[in-house]
Amino acid sequence: MIFRNKKFCQSCGMPLDKQMANWGTDQGGVLVDQYCKYCYREGQFTRNCNCQEMQAIVEQKLVEMRFPRFVARQMVKKIPKLQRWQPASLEVDNGKV
Ligand SMILES: [Zn+2]
Repeated sequence: MIFRNKKFCQSCGMPLDKQMANWGTDQGGVLVDQYCKYCYREGQFTRNCNCQEMQAIVEQKLVEMRFPRFVARQMVKKIPKLQRWQPASLEVDNGKV
């Protein structure tokens, strides 16, 4: 497996820790480098929400973390581009979101 410099959760956009501390897990409990553990645990998404709901959740979280609202809003703008929210057939081939 090739490790890229920076990985983001393909569901909420959170940066994935280099130490793998916040990585999600598949059914076997093996770490996956696509989703964070808050979004994806044991092969399942922890939240069954749509893209807009995810944006609202993350925006709220960022505000709780004391990011100004306009910054939070800016940060959640990239969420619809993440892999989870793409049609299943779409190949993400350049690794950039
Ligand atoms: Zn996530």
